[in-house]
Amino acid sequence: MLARVVAPEGTGEEIFEPATGDLLGRAPVHTTDDLERLVAAATEAQAGWAALGHGERSARLNRIADRLDAVAEPLARLLAREQGKPLNGPNARFEVGACSSWLRATAALELQEEVVVDDGQQVSVLTYRPIGLVAAVGPWNWPLMITVWQVAPSLRMGNAVIVKPSEKTPLSVLAMLSIMAEELPEGVLGALSGGREVGASLVAHPAVRKVMFTGSTAAGRKIVEASGANLARLTLELGGNDAGIVLPDADPKAIAQDVFWGAFINTGQTCAALKRLYVHESIHDELVEALAEVARAMPMGRSLDEDSVLGPVQNSMQFDVVSGLVEDAKQRGGTIVTGGEPLTDLGPLFYPVTLVTGLHDGDRLVDEEQFGPALPIVKYSDVDEAVASANRLDVGLGASVWSSDPARAQEVADRVEAGSVWINSHGGIHPMVPFGGVKGSGYGLEFGVEGLKALGVPKVVTRRSAE
Ligand code: NAD
Repeated sequence: MLARVVAPEGTGEEIFEPATGDLLGRAPVHTTDDLERLVAAATEAQAGWAALGHGERSARLNRIADRLDAVAEPLARLLAREQGKPLNGPNARFEVGACSSWLRATAALELQEEVVVDDGQQVSVLTYRPIGLVAAVGPWNWPLMITVWQVAPSLRMGNAVIVKPSEKTPLSVLAMLSIMAEELPEGVLGALSGGREVGASLVAHPAVRKVMFTGSTAAGRKIVEASGANLARLTLELGGNDAGIVLPDADPKAIAQDVFWGAFINTGQTCAALKRLYVHESIHDELVEALAEVARAMPMGRSLDEDSVLGPVQNSMQFDVVSGLVEDAKQRGGTIVTGGEPLTDLGPLFYPVTLVTGLHDGDRLVDEEQFGPALPIVKYSDVDEAVASANRLDVGLGASVWSSDPARAQEVADRVEAGSVWINSHGGIHPMVPFGGVKGSGYGLEFGVEGLKALGVPKVVTRRSAE
C-alpha cells in the first residue's frame, strides 16, 4: 500500500483530477517553520549520510527502487489520477517504471578520481565531494520521474535533499518520497509542499548549496536572482521550443509514428517534445497526411481507462495556453488538419491532437512554447533557411533532424543550437547520456557521470611527485 501523505483533516490545498474534475485529496501547505525544521534535520543528517560512502549509498538507491517496484501499480494509478496521464502508452506505468530503473542506473554509475597532472613534478587529483543540502524543485508534467532525476544523483553523491514538488501534482510526489525515505536515515530526504512562494523560500535559504530546478524559464530567472544571496550552484532545466527539421530525403510514412510521439508524448506536455516541425516542401503534404493518420488512430480518454494513450491537459492554465495559441493560428490563416476545438464531451480539459499547417516563423504557435497537444508544421524550401528558423529563438533544449542520409543529417545536426539533437527520433533520454539546455532553456547537465559531478563540489589535491 502507498503511504498516505495528505494534509490534516480540513486543511491544505484541494487537488482535483484533471480528467474528471473530482476531488482527489488535499495537499499540505508548508510554512517557513516547516522549512526550518527540514533544513535543521537535513543539515544534521547529511554528514552521516556522506560518511556511508558510494557503495552503501548505491545499495540504498537499489533498495528504494525495489520498494517503488513493489508499489508500482498503486503509484501509477495515483499519478494518472493526479497528473491526468493515462496508465498505458508512454504514460503513468511507464513513468513509475522509469523511476526505479533510473535509480538503479544512478546507483551503478562509476565516478573515478581524475589525475589531471602527473608530470614528474607534481600529481594533481580531482575528486568530487558532497555539496551539502540540495533543493529540488520540480514541475507537473513528469512529476515522479523528474523528482527521481533530481534526487537520485543528489543522494548518490552524499547530499541531503529537500524536494518542493509542483503545487499541481504534490500528492503522487509526496507518496513516492515517503516510500523513498523509508530506506534513508531520518532527515536526509525532506518534502516541502506548497506553491511558488514556498519554492522561493526554499531556494533562497542560506543553508542551500545547490538548486536542481526544472520548470519555466521565468521561474528559472528568479532562481538565478535568488542565488545571488546564497551562491547556490544551479542546474536549470527550463522551457523549450524544440524544432524538428525534416530533410527532403526522409521517408514520410516511415517516420510518421516517431515524429508523432516526439511531439505528443504525455499529450505534448513534455519539456523536450517536438514543438515546431519544419518540413521540406517536396514531402510536406505527404508527411502531414501520414501524421494525421497516426493522430486519428490514437485514443484519447480518461486516465484510468486502459484504452487511452493520450489524456487531458493537466490544468486550466495550460489548457488556455494551448487553445489560445490554436485560435491565434486560425486567425493568422493557419489550416487545421486535425483537432482545433476542445473535446468537451470528454471533459473540460481535453484538447485533441491538433496539427496546423500554413504557419510561419513569427506566428505565435510557432514562436511560443505550447506545452500541449498542438503542433505547427512549417513548410520550407531551403535547408539553410530551416536551420536558421530552428536557431532563431532564445531557447535550445532539444532538436531533431530527420533524413535517410546519416552524413547529411549529422551535418545539419551540427549546426543546430540545442543541448540535445536527435537524428530520426526526438526526445529519447538515457540515464548514461547527459541532458541539458542552452540559451533560455537553462544550463547545467543531468544524467550520467556528468550529472553526478553536478551534484558534487570539485576538490583538487596536489602533491609533489616522488623523487
Ligand atoms: P513553473 O516554473 O511554473 O513551476 C515549476 C516549479 O517551480 C513549481 O514547483 C513551482 O512551485 C516552482 N516555482 C515557481 N516559481 C518559483 C520561484 N520563484 N522560486 C522557486 N520555485 C518556484 O513550471 P511548470 O508550469 O510547473 O512546468 C512547465 C514548464 O517546465 C515548461 O516551460 C517546460 O518546458 C518546463 N520543463 C522543463 C524541463 C526540462 O528538463 N528542461 C522538464 C519539464 C518541464
